[in-house]
Amino acid sequence: MSNVEQTLSIIKPDAVERNLQEEIKNEFKRNDFIIVKDKKIHISKKEAEQFYKVHQAKPFYNDLCNYLSSGPIVVMILEKENAVLDNRNLMGATNPKEAKEGTLRNKYGLSIDKNSAHGSDSVENAKIEIDFFFKD
Ligand code: UDP
Ligand code: MG
Repeated sequence: MSNVEQTLSIIKPDAVERNLQEEIKNEFKRNDFIIVKDKKIHISKKEAEQFYKVHQAKPFYNDLCNYLSSGPIVVMILEKENAVLDNRNLMGATNPKEAKEGTLRNKYGLSIDKNSAHGSDSVENAKIEIDFFFKD
């Protein structure tokens, strides 16, 4: 049975700032993801707050929203079998120091906040996040 899914990926400001977007896109392609849509944008703090609303009670919420709106990001719809989980595995742990060798956050992440990549954590959230950036 095939289980083709879509997930939302973001190349965060720290990675775009270092011009890593092509390298990171190639990592996705090498790992059999199809980049269905992508765009480079610079979101406002209000949009970041909306996007990360699930974290609004967390102590890092304000810094996180300032950070995501601090510079250009690349948002992408990725598609493959089991895309949600496979993308999470390719990204690695939230903290780059704990991310396994070869994962994106291990290779490119600078710190727990500047960890280079975002990926949806469930099929349900992937739909919400894809709509957030690509509903037009
Ligand atoms: N984050 C942070 N400090 C923390 C935990 C998370 O700055 O102690 C940031 C980090 O950039 C992370 C984002 O908040 O990617 C969202 O956190 P989540 O727990 O959802 O991690 P993710 O799903 O991105 O691995
Ligand atoms: Mg998350």
